[in-house]
Formats: sequence, structure tokens, C-alpha cells
Amino acid sequence: MHAVLPLPGPIDPVPVPRPKPADEDARVNLIGISKAGIREVLIGAGLDERQARLRAKQLWHQIYNRGQRDFSAMSDIAKPQRAWLAERFEIARPEIVVEQVSTDGTRKWLLKTHDGHDYEMVFIPDADRGTLCVSSQVGCTLNCRFCHPGTMRLVRNLEPGEIVGQVMLARDALGEWPSQPEGRMLSNIVMMGMGEPLYNFDNVRDALKIVMDGDGLGLSRRRITLSTSGVVPMMARAGEEIGVNLAVSLHAVTKEVRDEIVPLNRKYGIEALLEACAAYPGANNARRITFEYVMLKDKNDSDADARELVRLLRKHKLPAKVNLIPFNPWPGTDYECSDETRIQSFSNIIFEAGISAPVRRPRGRDIMAACGQLKSAAEKKSRAELDRIAEQKQAQLG
Ligand code: SAH
Repeated sequence: MHAVLPLPGPIDPVPVPRPKPADEDARVNLIGISKAGIREVLIGAGLDERQARLRAKQLWHQIYNRGQRDFSAMSDIAKPQRAWLAERFEIARPEIVVEQVSTDGTRKWLLKTHDGHDYEMVFIPDADRGTLCVSSQVGCTLNCRFCHPGTMRLVRNLEPGEIVGQVMLARDALGEWPSQPEGRMLSNIVMMGMGEPLYNFDNVRDALKIVMDGDGLGLSRRRITLSTSGVVPMMARAGEEIGVNLAVSLHAVTKEVRDEIVPLNRKYGIEALLEACAAYPGANNARRITFEYVMLKDKNDSDADARELVRLLRKHKLPAKVNLIPFNPWPGTDYECSDETRIQSFSNIIFEAGISAPVRRPRGRDIMAACGQLKSAAEKKSRAELDRIAEQKQAQLG
């Protein structure tokens, strides 16, 4: 009998983070550990309760308010203790593989995990804000047809330190230490990079709790947006345990089209998704849910689609805004971006129904800032890797 292979598609992922290789630096990275967790590791390393509490507080301030990476420069800690800390701990950022700056100011980084996987982050400056687009996974399981990372396989969930690390790196690059209460360049965060944040719930929650901590990075939950393709069973917990703004990648208004472009829809359909949105804790007219809608020519962009979108949002009484995203094509995609006049007409219908429907401007096109593109480009360059894959395929066929 043949073993039955699992079907590809909308399945719940069970990613297994790989342990650090044994020959690697054995020091514990403090980035990504909660305040209470730091206290515990200090106690585990031999400090008494009272000392650990004081040191944890100092370290937290040094790491997340001052941006300090070097224990020896922590002048509020006694010198012998600084050396003691440096022997056991580190304050490590993700490794930067490539950093690019677009003519429009958009910056993009290709990063590497300690076990050698590439992932990305993007910083998008605007007149009144600066938004960091943060990744939650290396690769993705969702297979959205128009999305480039969606076509990569999932390698693993990012750890809390790798998620917080993205924010730390951006602050380093922008020279934004110590944490300022006002006038920050990095003012907003969107969990819209690679991956599905609600399939890495615990790590995303733990990371965002650190990012929101008032004694450290101090980003308000009102300036953080979590984007999901619609992992319905996790949405209430996201509202309760993280409490950030919600964005939903809707992209279609009929079962047929959404099943095709967002395969997760076969598992959690449009009605269930919109009900979960209506129940999202904290959503109200002052804090609307963003519905992302990528404009795909002759696929989801008709006037009838726009009217159906309005009907659905009204039916569920959703405090909504709609973000219309011109499709960013990538090599090998099946889709094209809708014409500008089509997008405008679609936007007008929603707008006339009293729902805000701005069209997102493409940013950083010259540096391929759309998600997944830098990673793919880097992968293309690795000839040896491609040869290896070709050999493997040959071996399988043979
Ligand atoms: N998995 C989550 C988080 C990733 S954000 C989610 O799907 O919401 C993914 C967003 O990137 C989508 O909402 C989509 O708007 C955008 N996106 C992905 N590929 C795109 C492309 N080729 N062109 C334009 N936007 C794209």
C-alpha cells in the first residue's frame, strides 16, 4: 500500500524551531525575553531575588529605552557585575544580509536568523508617520495566489527575539535611541511582512507585549496593526491578549474568488470571518478594522464586487475602512493589476457608501520593497543552491 501524502492547502502548520547548533555562542540573548523572564534567568544564573529584580529593571531600561547593546557601557551597573553579565548574556540583533534605500525613502532589509534563514522587514516613511512592516514567519503556509511569500514554503515561526529584533534594528538604523515620547520617525508597526501572525500567535503576542512596554520601546497599541488572512479561531484572542488594531486581508467578496486567491477561505469562509470581525474586542468607530483588498484585473475589481463589499460591511455593521492595494506583480504570477480608472471607480462606490477607501500608493518599487521580493532575489543569486535543488530533483526523478 502507498502512504497517503497530505494535501497541500489551508492546513494548520506545526513548525518546529531548530535548536541552536551546539558549537554556537552559548550566551543567552536577552532580546525577546519578558521582564519577568529576565528576572528568572538572572536568578537561574545565581542572583538572589532582590538583586535580580533590580538588575532586570536596569537591563530593561538599558536595552529597550537606551538601545544599549554592550553590558560594559551600562554605567548604572557595578563594573564587576557588567563583566559577569557579559559572560552569560548577549543583546543580539538579527544579522543584516542586505540593506537598501529607495529613492522615495523606503528602506528594506534582508535579515538572517541564527540558524541561517532569510526574512525581511521594510520601513516606509511618510509625512506624518513612519511605519515598520514586520515579519512573523520565515515563509508562509497560506498559499495566497497573488502573494509572493505565499508561494514560499514555511520554514519556521520567528521567535519573539527575532520579531522584537526587527524593531530594534530599525531603531538602530534611524538613530532613534533613547526612546522618545514624541516625534518619532518609527511611529507605527504593521504585522504585514512575511507570514501569518495568527499562526505564530504566542511569539507574536510576547514580542508585541515587549514592543508596547511603556518603560522600553513604548509603542502604543493604537499604533500597531496586526494583519491576518482570516484565522478566525484566533481573532478573539488577538483582541483580548494583544489588543492592537486589526487588519483583514479580505481581497474578494465571493466564495469562488476568495477560495481561489486566499485558500484559507475554504476553511474559514467570508461570513465566519466577518462575524469574527464584528466581535473583535475594541473595534468601534474610533478604532476601525482595516479591510485590505488587492486590486486584481478582471478577478475581483468590478463595480458589482465593490457594491457587494459595501453590502457585506453594512450587513455585519462593521466599523470599517477599506485599503485598496494596487497589485504588485512578480515573476511568474497569474495576475495583473487593475487599471487606474477601474481602481478609482471601485474606490468611489465604497466612498459614496460612507466608507473610507483610499488607494495605497506603491512604495519602494526600485528596491523591490513588496514583500518577498528581496528574499527571492537573494535566493536567485545563490547559483550553488539552485544547482543543489536541481540535483535533488534529478535524483528524485531518477
Ligand atoms: N498573512 C497576513 C500578513 C501578511 S500581510 C495577511 O495575509 O494579512 C499580506 C498583505 O500583503 C496582504 O494583505 C496583501 O495586501 C499584501 N500583498 C501580498 N502580496 C501582494 C502583491 N503582490 N501586491 C500587493 N499587495 C500584496
